[in-house]
Amino acid sequence: MFIAFEGGDGAGKSTQIRLLQQRLSDAGREVLVTREPGGTPLGVQIREVLLHGDHVAPRAEALLFAADRAHHVATVVRPALARGAVVLQDRYLDSSVAYQGAGRELDPVDVRGLSMWATEGLLPALTILLDVSPQVGRDRRGGTHDRLEQEADDFHSRVREHFLALAAAEPQRYLVLDAALPAEQIAIAVAERVDALL
Ligand code: C5P
Repeated sequence: MFIAFEGGDGAGKSTQIRLLQQRLSDAGREVLVTREPGGTPLGVQIREVLLHGDHVAPRAEALLFAADRAHHVATVVRPALARGAVVLQDRYLDSSVAYQGAGRELDPVDVRGLSMWATEGLLPALTILLDVSPQVGRDRRGGTHDRLEQEADDFHSRVREHFLALAAAEPQRYLVLDAALPAEQIAIAVAERVDALL
């Protein structure tokens, strides 16, 4: 089963992934935790360019995220799913649609189409959206300031609104939670939804 975690920077995705990983492993399941960008050796190189390179033109940025995703899905995610593992992934194609589509103001439909081509149409069974306001996200991120995190609040507001719109359009495939809630409370809601799916 493929479960993606999405949300703005500082939403607490990695904490929730860790808690769910523990819970599923304790229940005897094979769990693969992975992320985009950077879930493969090639992806690590692409991540470096995206986060620490000089200016990357928006369409080039979208293509680099899609290239990372194509390689990651083909070499890591699909093989794990074929083994019957539960894949917990930090960011997936909704991040591209929200950041490059809405944030960079490329056409979100085009950006989604690019990722659907890159992944041969692989969608998560469930996407957990940790909804965070740009202000809270900025405070939580604290000292980390890579190229992509330096965007202004209005960029992050567009990203946030688009994530919420994606979830609202397909409520059966999303769980939206307020990232400002205590981590334990979020973890309980995540566990309930995942248990119902497994
Ligand atoms: O979540 P993570 O720290 O791995 O993301 C790295 C950076 O890339 C973040 O600043 C995130 O906002 C950005 N990003 C992006 N477009 C994506 C995925 C991530 O701008 N499609």
